[in-house]
Amino acid sequence: MALQVFRSTLDMHKACEQLHMSRKRIGLVPTMGYLHAGHVSLFRYARAHADIAAATIFVNPAQFGPNEDFKRYPRDFEHDCSLAEEAGVDIVFAPADEEMYAPGYASYVEVEHVSKIFEGAFRPTHFRGVTTIVAKLFNIVRPQTAVFGQKDAQQVFLLKKMALDLNFNIEILVVPIVRETDGLAMSSRNVYLSNTERQQALVLSQALFQAQKRVQEGERRCGVILDEMKNIVLSGRPAQIDYIACVDPATFEILENALKPQILFLLAVRFGPTRLIDNILISL
Ligand code: AMP
Repeated sequence: MALQVFRSTLDMHKACEQLHMSRKRIGLVPTMGYLHAGHVSLFRYARAHADIAAATIFVNPAQFGPNEDFKRYPRDFEHDCSLAEEAGVDIVFAPADEEMYAPGYASYVEVEHVSKIFEGAFRPTHFRGVTTIVAKLFNIVRPQTAVFGQKDAQQVFLLKKMALDLNFNIEILVVPIVRETDGLAMSSRNVYLSNTERQQALVLSQALFQAQKRVQEGERRCGVILDEMKNIVLSGRPAQIDYIACVDPATFEILENALKPQILFLLAVRFGPTRLIDNILISL
């Protein structure tokens, strides 16, 4: 099937309802475009777990703060469509802003508590925007499965919680972080980095891999590991460290000791004006 592109919610909804009637399972991959190999890995995963892979490309204004990069967020729709098609995507939904948020728009979905910490503490309305747009896409597409990246670990936690709390009955699948060969987690925002910042930013994955190594060696005191990580990050001369933390991925509670079945180290650090997030999930 050649790639189909829909711009209107109604057309997308109709196409998806047709697919439901012919008993096709839809795997949905929401993205903001400017696609890279991380997104491609989600598309392939969706294709492998459903009959139809549907990608959305929408730079969602509701998840950007007033002083954030909504206007200058990188966009390249033609390139995105060819990458998506190559990765086996069947349908792209790329609505205009007004299509998703008509004048007078007033309804939002919010997952309490965990949406206020870490990313939520630095980006107060961010997760409300994410959960709202994903809830809208779930209603338009009614997919059987939806695929998200571990790169945005807190987002994954909140979307799973939303799907459960609001009875969406959609299986949420999570794909591991795709990295550049030197370790930098792929991100559409990496284009903002100067050559120097790009080199400096390598300390993020180095700090996370060091944490993994220390846990594998048997260190269980999160404070000790976090201090080591902080020193590694500081060696990259970042503009600011927003947080470096160790949590239980099942609850997002801060851990003093790495004694859970899985532990998650996560960080947000700025290099120049660019804010990067990264994390590592470790199974004990
Ligand atoms: P975005 O376009 O940045 O909103 O990302 C769309 C989806 O791709 C989200 O589920 C992200 O977590 C996922 N994603 C972004 N970067 C990566 C990456 N490097 N590896 C895996 N998934 C990613």
